[in-house]
Amino acid sequence: MSAINTRLEAVNQQIQHAIKKYHRDADSVSLLAVSKTRPAEEIALAVTAGQHRFGESYIQEALIKIDQLKALQIEWHFIGRIQGNKTRSIAENFDWVHSIDSVKQIKRLNEQRPKALPPLNICLQIKIDDEESKAGLSPEQAKCIIDEMAHYPRLLLRGFMTLPAPAENLEEQRQPFKTLRLLRDQLATEAMPLETLSMGMSDDLEAAIAEGSTLVRIGTAIFGPRNYPAK
Ligand SMILES: *Cc1c(COP(=O)(O)O)cnc(C)c1O
Repeated sequence: MSAINTRLEAVNQQIQHAIKKYHRDADSVSLLAVSKTRPAEEIALAVTAGQHRFGESYIQEALIKIDQLKALQIEWHFIGRIQGNKTRSIAENFDWVHSIDSVKQIKRLNEQRPKALPPLNICLQIKIDDEESKAGLSPEQAKCIIDEMAHYPRLLLRGFMTLPAPAENLEEQRQPFKTLRLLRDQLATEAMPLETLSMGMSDDLEAAIAEGSTLVRIGTAIFGPRNYPAK
């Protein structure tokens, strides 16, 4: 058995543990394997082990791997910073985008999503802690976008994503996730349930599941430490 296989199984067990511990519904949390910086061979191994959702952050690197792995059944999620000139590649090659943080990105992705494909699933990235430098929309900006979604028929708004600053312990880790869940509860409507909460990474998976995450984005715990850091 490969190391990836073993680690993938361990992560799935961790998820199941947290689901039970926090009385979440079985199957209410999905695993997104974050494969940025990892070669296509490792992704193929994870597919063999039953993993089918993968997250990528760097578009050039992702496009090569998507092409190399096109024979496999993979759902591709874009989770990195979205540069203006890259929206077409994202619209044409991905199933989901988690890192939307401007109306301009929404307009471009809506225009560029090919008609032959189903609508692109999107999550709005929300800035929870008020750090100037960090990407993400304010709750007010998110509310405006939600009200305008009818103008973007090629996109399907699924929910919110957040990427909080690292915290010391479980209780502290839970705070931003709780804030995001409460915001979702406040802004969700029958027509727009915002059922997806994309939150939790290798180091704060339990806290995220405790607070209602439906999609955890896990890289290091599955593939090991990355060889080059996030740009
Ligand atoms: C890299 C990355 C992850 C995965 O982080 P790990 O700590 O390796 O699990 C999750 N989400 C985003 C947005 C990332 O860029």
